[in-house]
Amino acid sequence: MAESLDNTASAKQSFDTVLIANRGEIAARIQRACRELGLKTVAICSEADKHAPYGKTADGFLCIGPSNAAKSYLNQDAILLAARLTGAGAVHPGYGFLSESATFSKEVENAGLVFIGPEASSIATMGDKISAKRAMVGAGVPCVPGPDTSLPGDSVAVERIAQEIGYPVIIKAAGGGGGRGMRVVREIDALHEAIALTREEARQAFGSPELYMEKFLEQPRHIEIQVLCDAHCNAVWLGHRDCSMQRRHQKVVEEAPAPGIAPDVIRPVGMACAKACRQIGYRGVGTFEFLYENGAFYFIEMNTRLQVEHPVTEMTSGIDIVHAQIRTAQGEPLDLRQGDVRCDGHSFECRINAEDPDSFLPSAGLITDLALPEGPGIRVDTHIHAGYRVSPYYDSLIAKLIVHAPTRAKAMAKMREALAATRVEGISTNLPVLRALFEDEAFARGETDIHYLEQWLRQRR
Ligand code: ADP
Repeated sequence: MAESLDNTASAKQSFDTVLIANRGEIAARIQRACRELGLKTVAICSEADKHAPYGKTADGFLCIGPSNAAKSYLNQDAILLAARLTGAGAVHPGYGFLSESATFSKEVENAGLVFIGPEASSIATMGDKISAKRAMVGAGVPCVPGPDTSLPGDSVAVERIAQEIGYPVIIKAAGGGGGRGMRVVREIDALHEAIALTREEARQAFGSPELYMEKFLEQPRHIEIQVLCDAHCNAVWLGHRDCSMQRRHQKVVEEAPAPGIAPDVIRPVGMACAKACRQIGYRGVGTFEFLYENGAFYFIEMNTRLQVEHPVTEMTSGIDIVHAQIRTAQGEPLDLRQGDVRCDGHSFECRINAEDPDSFLPSAGLITDLALPEGPGIRVDTHIHAGYRVSPYYDSLIAKLIVHAPTRAKAMAKMREALAATRVEGISTNLPVLRALFEDEAFARGETDIHYLEQWLRQRR
């Protein structure tokens, strides 16, 4: 007994102030979670975000650099200096920016602070798509057909690999991200040029020419599994999400659970993800992304951070994922086992973007008036208010509208009402697109693939 208590105590990482190394809605979301846990917060900002509302409610608020993110939100030294000046004991990276930088995770820990996320080695393994695939194959997670090794330079060997996989294939950069560094090849004649172009792009954009090849799936859905792990080798999965509604690889609407996938079909995949986390000693929250086609799952990547769409899982599981993430970073063991995880009802999230609803070009400027929906089963995660000026420097997400209801049909009806009650004046938003999408019959039936939204948008023109 005494021994296990000692072990727990030695793994404890105490801190009472969290520096939130991010901006926008997620900075506000993380701040709320910290305060609920009795922790103090430090907000940071660039010149463009000096008037951010979460700055006023933080215990400390520091401007760390100019509007250009490379000189502020991506400036590791400035963030670490801010932590030192304010006496913060931990850094929460949010999503985007430095959240998946193994170097940043290591620098934070080297500075004697707690990084609220996985260890640098886990981030590095999963950040390289080939090593991630290899780790997943080893843990029994189903992957896209194709070798878990980098593409050789020899053209005959490459042709043989493509032939073994079977066309169409996709060439991907090992270090790729953000939907870039990928090329589909449908026949042998196009193979070598595609490899040369992707290699050059990979070298320039990601600093590594390493490539790999896998089967290109024609009409998959995007299904992902949320995991939650502590530093004591406990890992659970919290259900699945469908994020197939995408434009240019950017998710627009997410839902939980994924429609039409039976619990006994998803369960072994979820269990394999949790097992993989135990095998690699993963800590904190993470997401396994899969393509799903003809009843089979194919792992594509793991995100080693909190996701934009985490609220739909919170709504169905009743678990506050950010609380759990912070507590596991404090060294607390998970206070639940897999059998305690129950998912109820259905949840949707709409990303409200400051953009033109036809051209999708960003729309910055002053929000002159704002109305947000309220009521049971409705949640809005945002940092904006009437009088807030949307900056042109960062991504266009200004609010997330989340609903929860007992069934998918009822959740759709609730979202229709919530969208109707939402008004953002002074700038353009994608609200008209979201409203029309929630009237669409194919979407209402569910199980649309990752190309559906773009086809639907083209037909609307
Ligand atoms: P990134 O890290 O750039 O987001 P991913 O590996 O997650 O890259 O892939 C991004 C998107 O590219 C996927 O959501 C999917 O639409 C498409 N994609 C990736 N791999 C495949 C594949 N093997 N077959 C079909 N589409 C794919």
